[in-house]
Amino acid sequence: MADEPQPQWPGSTPPGGDVARQAPAKPVARRSTEVGKPAEFRSRMPRPSGVGELLAPAAGFGVTLSNFFKKTVTEEYPTEKVPPKPRFHGRHQLNRYADGLEKCIGCELCAWACPADAIYVEADDNTPEEQYSPGERYGRVYQINYLRCILCGLCIEACPTRALTMTNDYELAGPTRAGLIWEKQDLLAPLRDGMLSTPHPMVEGTTDKDYYRGAVTGPTREQEEWVAEHRPDDPSLPVNVAAGMPPAPRGATAQAQAAITAGATKQGRRVL
Ligand code: SF4
Ligand code: SF4
Repeated sequence: MADEPQPQWPGSTPPGGDVARQAPAKPVARRSTEVGKPAEFRSRMPRPSGVGELLAPAAGFGVTLSNFFKKTVTEEYPTEKVPPKPRFHGRHQLNRYADGLEKCIGCELCAWACPADAIYVEADDNTPEEQYSPGERYGRVYQINYLRCILCGLCIEACPTRALTMTNDYELAGPTRAGLIWEKQDLLAPLRDGMLSTPHPMVEGTTDKDYYRGAVTGPTREQEEWVAEHRPDDPSLPVNVAAGMPPAPRGATAQAQAAITAGATKQGRRVL
């Protein structure tokens, strides 16, 4: 044993002392250091053998060949418009309660949740003369910049009153950059039958919690009388609706967008 060759270390004492001396290191494969000669690549994937190796190209083309005989899914947009799925995230809408009051309370949670900084909100106080939403505050300024919006839906998840939801409308392209900043009047839901346009008082004897719980199912006679006294020409008053007064105009952006959509629709068949 005394004549057995021992590994040589550059220093006087090998690392690990006697233990290292008893168990010499195994040789380690080294990468090529020659200029212009890269190290050889070896895949760790198991290689097919025999019949498997013969059928491997056919298996790869099998996916392609199986799709040859399936129905094509090409859509002829914009000549033919296919309705999106019901839960598709399209442009936003600011909703109302059954009596017409706005659900938005101007809390700005949607703006804080937005990863693209696409929402701008300014709140203001409701007053007895100008009540736009149940409770203390309402959204006086509400803008969504569709040049920034990625339609991710985080804003509607953050909204505590379900004021903000998303529609199925995906045709948001426009000819101007300014036109893609939608204002509150563009985003507000249109008045449904029986709703009174804002401002007007809350239903007598209710609180904002009653509205959140769905206890308000429509405008009352007192609310209609209040609107008739302060805005006798309001087109949402039942007496004016019965007289055939045209509905209140919506925002300029919404009108421009509707014109663009209508123009595009004339190019072909609309399935929506
Ligand atoms: S959908 Fe997403 S990107 Fe668009 S406004 Fe809402 S949070 Fe912002
Ligand atoms: S839309 Fe909802 S989250 Fe945004 S300000 Fe209005 S109430 Fe708050």
